[in-house]
Order: sequence, then structure tokens, then C-alpha cells
Amino acid sequence: MKTAPAHDRADLSVLGHELHALVTELYPICRSITGDGLRETLRRLQRFVALTMHEVPTGTRVFDWTVPPEWNIRDAYVKNSGGERVIDFQKSNLHVVSYSVPVHEKMGLEELKTHLFTLPDCPDWIPYRTSYYKRNWGFCLSHRQLLGLPEDEYEVCIDASLENGHLTYGEVYLPGDTTDEILISSHVCHPSLANDNLSGLAIACFLARYISQLPRKYSYRFLFIPGTIGAITWLCVNESRVSRIKHGLVLAGVGDVGALSYKKSRQGDREIDRVAVHVLRQFGPKSRILEFSPYGYDERQYCSPGFNLAVGRLSRTPHGTFPEYHTSADNLNFVDPCALGESFSACVSIFSILERNRAYVNTSPKCEPQLGERGLYRMMGGSAEDNTNEMAMLWVLNLSDGEHSLLEIAERAQLSFDSIYYAAAALKEHGLLKDALSGVKIRHGRGAGLD
Ligand SMILES: [Zn+2]
Repeated sequence: MKTAPAHDRADLSVLGHELHALVTELYPICRSITGDGLRETLRRLQRFVALTMHEVPTGTRVFDWTVPPEWNIRDAYVKNSGGERVIDFQKSNLHVVSYSVPVHEKMGLEELKTHLFTLPDCPDWIPYRTSYYKRNWGFCLSHRQLLGLPEDEYEVCIDASLENGHLTYGEVYLPGDTTDEILISSHVCHPSLANDNLSGLAIACFLARYISQLPRKYSYRFLFIPGTIGAITWLCVNESRVSRIKHGLVLAGVGDVGALSYKKSRQGDREIDRVAVHVLRQFGPKSRILEFSPYGYDERQYCSPGFNLAVGRLSRTPHGTFPEYHTSADNLNFVDPCALGESFSACVSIFSILERNRAYVNTSPKCEPQLGERGLYRMMGGSAEDNTNEMAMLWVLNLSDGEHSLLEIAERAQLSFDSIYYAAAALKEHGLLKDALSGVKIRHGRGAGLD
């Protein structure tokens, strides 16, 4: 990450299409919080990165929760009296409520309807429903299809198993110069939904591959886990190692065409929060910063008070605020290659700043040093870029007292991190800066905002 190359537009377009191709490949697989669909998904990610699969047995107590039975499904349908499949799992895995118990019986329309779920406001879409912790069964279908079902005797079949097995999760660990870790977490438990969260796991997978090829200060841990129960299980099984996590990012819903959004960690003013705000500002005025709330994805677990990790969440349009959320309309068309490429690029920018952020001490702090003599200062009025570089040097010299990080200087100067970083590099090369004593804490106060 020390020498992370900038991605240009053409690179990002190619990358965006590769990400979309991975989303497309994984889309048909029927995933849930356990089971073979989840394993198959992780196996396919192993083509890109050295991902380790972990299996935690059903019944394992994880804090206040218990690892549930493993669910696997082979087929499901509702047939009319003519033997025709009027609801068919083979056409869309969203047709079956995830974690449905097995069933095979005949019933009339009225009884069947108590197990059917639709979206009357979006009559052509199939909803996504789960029943993980309550034994039940059900089918999801479009409201228009429901309205067209005549009175009849229906054969209902869900050929599924709910038995002792395992909860599976995937992990990629990339050791760095230090054991301090950056955590990247994405949920992998949804079936045919593209943005939530094939977008997140595809980007996490490509980030792991990308970062594995770069020198890096931090160690990186990528988790591909079932939502909620997977994060709880990982935190419980790895509790002794959690203190190594210095920064973290949950990736969820990062493929739609809406603007980028960042949800702050519970503490709200950690280095990851400041860096993400700084980076999102560069992605345009529509980027949004959201305060922490105890609702959402797995940041809820990482930011629970007993862990209180510096973990935020990167999304585009926040979940629950777009009508396609948790419906069949969150499909391959809803996810955009350019948006995927841009989200990837935002992640790289965030990690690149975390890798390079540090504090220096000005070795010539009594009045300004003579920059012109050292060839660092243009004597005549220069271009706008020269002026920016000079302002960056003046800010770095003024605030490099060992207390201010480069990011804080960039914020105070209202300049990009890169301007400040390269100014500091030039000053250091000329002996005007030295490293702050190790152990100086990167301070970050409150007050970061997009405006
Ligand atoms: Zn979801």
C-alpha cells in the first residue's frame, strides 16, 4: 500500500466489469446463513484469493446466541391440480422463504395463502424473506401472480433439510509489517440479490487480491461471513485477537448507482472515520456521511459496547431507503460496473491514507526555514498547482510538531491528503522533517463533516 498506484478511469471501467462478472457468476447460487450455497460461493472466491473456510458446529454457543442447524434445499414448488408448477424454486431461489422447514402436502388456496408473501406496492417483484430462528415455511411471489391464482387443490413441496451441521465462513489474512490489523467484513448469506450483498463480497474479494500484491504496514483480515450470526460467531471464537483490529470497514450495498455513503463507527471520531470522510469528500458533494446507529449490517456487532471497534460501513444508497432493497429487483441490472469500480477505488483510497498517515516533527521550527534556497519554493508566482504545493509545505512545516498527523494537517489546510503527503515527503528529503517519536498517538478530535 505504500506505493499504491492511482487507478485511472479506464482501469476502473475494466475492473468494474470484472466485478460485475463475479456478481453475475455468484447470483444464481442459493445462499443462506449456513449450507452448501454459502460453501460454493466461498469456493468460487478461492479462485481469486487464498481464502480459508472455517466450520463452526451447530449448537455452538456464541455469546447470547447459538449456531443454528444447517439448512440445505434441493427443490421447492407449488403445483396446481394439473401438475403445473405455479411457483418454482428452480426459476428463482427468492421464491422460498430462507430456512423453510421441509413440507410436502396438499391444501386449498386459503390455507396456502397463509404461507405466501408478496409486495402489493410493487406487484411485479418477488420479496426476499427469511425465517432463521422461527420454524416455519413459506413461498414468496409477485403480487400479480398471487392475484391470478385460482381456487384449486395445490401440492406444496419444499425439499429441504434443517439438521445438525455447521456454520461456514471465509477468512483471508494478509500479514503486514505490523500485527495491527485492518478488518474488512462483508456478509455472504443472501441468495439472488446483487447489490445486497454480492457487490460487497465481490469488492472485498478483489481488494484482498489487490492488497496481497502490495507492501503494507498493516495486516489485513477479510471476513466473508453470514450476516449477524457470522459476525457474532467470529467475534466469539476470536475474542483474544480482536484488540489487534485498529480500523475496520463493513462493505454492504456498494454496487448501485447512488452516491457513496459512509456510516461512522460508534465512537464517530476514530481515524477510519476521519479518513473515510476525507476520501468521500473527493467523490463529490452527493457523498453522504451517516452517524452511527445500532441498526444496519455487521457494524452492529463490531461496534457493540463490549468490543467498540473502530469499524465503519461503506455503502452507496443506504439499505432500506431504495424500493429494490430485499426484492427480486435487486438484480444484475441494479448493480452498475462503474459504481462497483468507484466503490473499489474509494476503498483503496481509504486504505492508502491509513497506510501513509503519520506525524512528523519540524527540524527547523524557529521561524520559517528558507525554502527557496533549497529549491522548494518558487521565487516568482507559479501555477495554481505550484501554489497548492507551496501552501501544503507551509502547513506541514507549521503543524509538524509531532502532535498533528498528515490527515489532520490536510483537513486544517483544506487540501487533499496526497498534497500534504507529497509536501511532507519533499520536506523530509531536505532534512526539514523527522519522524515523530514512535508511540505518538494519532489524535483525532471531533468535527469532521462533508461541508
Ligand atoms: Zn440484506
